[in-house]
Amino acid sequence: MRGMGARYQALRGTRDILPEEVGVWHRLEAATHEVFARYGFREVRTPIFEATELFARSVGSSTDIVRKEMYTFQSGDESVTLRPENTAPVVRAFVEHALHRTIAAGYPERLYYLGPMFRHERPQKGRQRQFHQIGAEVLGAAEPLADAETIEMVWSLLGALGIDDRELQLNTVGDAVCRPRYREALTRWLAPKLPAMCDDCKRRAVENPLRVFDCKVEADRKMLEEAPTLAQSLCDPCAAHFAAVRQTLDAFAIPYVVDERLVRGLDYYQRTVFEVVARGLGAQNALLGGGRYDGLVEELGGPAIPGFGFAAGMERLVLVMNKAAGDARGSDLLIVALGEAGFKGAIGLARSLRAKGLRVALPLTERPLGAQMKRAERLGARFALFVGANELAAGRFGLKDLSSGVQFEVDEAGIGPAVTTGGNGHGR
Ligand code: AMP
Repeated sequence: MRGMGARYQALRGTRDILPEEVGVWHRLEAATHEVFARYGFREVRTPIFEATELFARSVGSSTDIVRKEMYTFQSGDESVTLRPENTAPVVRAFVEHALHRTIAAGYPERLYYLGPMFRHERPQKGRQRQFHQIGAEVLGAAEPLADAETIEMVWSLLGALGIDDRELQLNTVGDAVCRPRYREALTRWLAPKLPAMCDDCKRRAVENPLRVFDCKVEADRKMLEEAPTLAQSLCDPCAAHFAAVRQTLDAFAIPYVVDERLVRGLDYYQRTVFEVVARGLGAQNALLGGGRYDGLVEELGGPAIPGFGFAAGMERLVLVMNKAAGDARGSDLLIVALGEAGFKGAIGLARSLRAKGLRVALPLTERPLGAQMKRAERLGARFALFVGANELAAGRFGLKDLSSGVQFEVDEAGIGPAVTTGGNGHGR
């Protein structure tokens, strides 16, 4: 069928998730709800666009995200941005609805979300312009246990998804006391090297020297391997916090490596930062990342409340998930209507089976038997139900298990039970 109209394609960096794939997404979403609820997290849904200022303030005006990746537009007299990440919106909602009133020492607010994010990046495998994240935020807990417990939660989600080929990388980026000291040391070290570095690094060195570790230029990265690390400048409270997080992860038997170059791409992190990478993803191998952001709630107009969170890329999780159990459930049964009388009777039968909760496929017009059987296979139907004039008169129908090829007879009341128990021996 060739039409005369214009043809369109999904925009660069965006893609359709077709029915064949969507079963894996459902499974990912179900596992997320299930595992996160076990840890006391509750879902929050915030708008897809927010005031541009919210992201500029929180993510940081010198980050790649804010400098060049936001989808920002003018709406009336407001500058609006499609959310590039969802920590700032969740914190905005937390402050706006004064959720801090419900927290108490030792009992933080635990929130999570799932949904699309938007960044105008150069698309490549595992990197899109509209992508999806699962994320969680703990608001109101400064304890290292909050860090370790939240990491454990996402670690067990990965386990539930069959993602075993993974590595947890951990670091600390210090706080407002020790990070400035480190920044100075790094700036001194960078000064003689800068002429040989890329333009982005030259700019970063002035605006926000720690960002040089985001550099993707191979020669610069090589040089940066020699740079001083924050570990050497940590203040005592930050060092104690990091040691406690590590001890707890050890006690939980969660393996990790300390990566002193890990700084993460957003400005609001303090102390603990972490990432999980997976093999089989190519260059974009980060499945998820997060950390502690103790200053952010206050920065966004709330009380001085500490926070910890992470975000995971759903496309990347889907790429490495064990797909076996994620197949989209097809129809339970496809009605094969035989002749005009059969087709007419099949319409009513399909309606009553659907009302009982079965997934029933039926052609919208009379079709030859062969075509109907082929379609059953395409739809992944588990059973074919044969409905003709004789079957309707006798009230007995042939039901064929399409995986084993075994066929047996059932009456109308027996169809549901036969299908839900897999048909073993029913109604023979
Ligand atoms: P970030 O919010 O940058 O810390 O990213 C957290 C996770 O989201 C990453 O580890 C990726 O799995 C995923 N992610 C970030 N940006 C993209 C993108 N452009 N396309 C697909 N996934 C992404």
